[in-house]
Amino acid sequence: MAKAPRVFATCDIGPALDLLRQRGYQLEVYPSPEAPPKRLVIEKVKTGIDGLITTLRDKIDAEIFEAGKGTLEVVAQLAVGFDNINRADANRYKVPFTNTADVLTEATAEFAFFIMGTLARRMWPAEHLTRENKWGFWHPYLPFLGDEVTGKTIAIIGTGRIGLAMIKKCTGFDMNMLCYDPAYQNREYIKSVQEVMDLRHARGIQRSRTWIKYVSFEEALAQADFVSVHVPLLREGESPTPTYHLFNERTLRMMKPTAFLVNTSRGPVIDELALAKALKENWIAGAGLDVYEKEPLAADSPLRDPAIEDRCRLLPHFASAAKITRLSPDPNLGMAGRCVQGLMDVLEGNYGGDVTKMPYVVNKEAFGE
Ligand code: NAD
Repeated sequence: MAKAPRVFATCDIGPALDLLRQRGYQLEVYPSPEAPPKRLVIEKVKTGIDGLITTLRDKIDAEIFEAGKGTLEVVAQLAVGFDNINRADANRYKVPFTNTADVLTEATAEFAFFIMGTLARRMWPAEHLTRENKWGFWHPYLPFLGDEVTGKTIAIIGTGRIGLAMIKKCTGFDMNMLCYDPAYQNREYIKSVQEVMDLRHARGIQRSRTWIKYVSFEEALAQADFVSVHVPLLREGESPTPTYHLFNERTLRMMKPTAFLVNTSRGPVIDELALAKALKENWIAGAGLDVYEKEPLAADSPLRDPAIEDRCRLLPHFASAAKITRLSPDPNLGMAGRCVQGLMDVLEGNYGGDVTKMPYVVNKEAFGE
């Protein structure tokens, strides 16, 4: 390295940052647990930093890239989702940005699975019953019953990394699977899962023969007992098949009244007003959310309505919140490690300085021929 790179991190991402310190980087970390105001990030970028470490709480757009014109070489994001980063602006200013795909795939999928189980088996109202000392007797059906997950049909919306991991987990619960993805269909994976299911059935590990197939969005919603969402947030103009408000009054009404919706993707994929109405008017049986249109969830959100409390699980954007997943400095295990490695790849000119060869750079299209 010719000179010690200067880096500003908008958040403390843990011990992985020591890797940068050990390599002589001049590192400044925003000390507060809340996100810094955008004007402060702009000020820091204007001082000529080489690298910026961001989280999904930071809005990174032309204002930031303009402030770093001629100096800012990389934005390293601690997340797989990057809807907070304006890709077109990054490309216009020719600033590569990196993400932390793969290392949070299993954590996110298992969290979606656990939300589904918690919701279906009514764990939350059941624990409240115990804690509030309202558990008066054992009874075959009072005060309420839940629904089994085993053997049911799930719709997987988005069959990218996390969607496929969710499919793998559902296989262990003898579920039938309806897959929907307009842009990427991994038919080889689906075929392999079917072979595993067939073998489990043939060897007596699961009683019924189960199936998995790609279907239309409408078919998936109409037939599923559970719908689990694994798409990126794509607004109008960002994709031929945007995901903003993919779940709205019209599409929520397509679901069965006994079905549950689980969202661990991004909040704006669901129109929350429509969802609150769907729960209140029993168009669907329940919903479990990890992400929201505005985070943290507003105190007056209709999703907090006590009338739907027992059918609506609300988690604080926690799907990747496992210790190794979030913090491991190993780029093959942890988001922090992968974030730091992505930053170093660009600033230290790894891969012969060829951005298109760097595995964690997202917007490679801006650096081709
Ligand atoms: P991915 O890019 O591997 O998969 C996303 C899939 O969605 C792709 O196959 C894509 O073709 C598909 N897709 C795009 N538009 C669609 C549409 N209109 N309908 C259905 N499918 C569509 O991404 P991934 O690693 O699986 O992550 C998915 C998303 O999950 C991330 O973008 C992120 O926003 C979110 N996420 C949230 C958490 C959390 O903490 N809650 C953690 C990790 C990821």
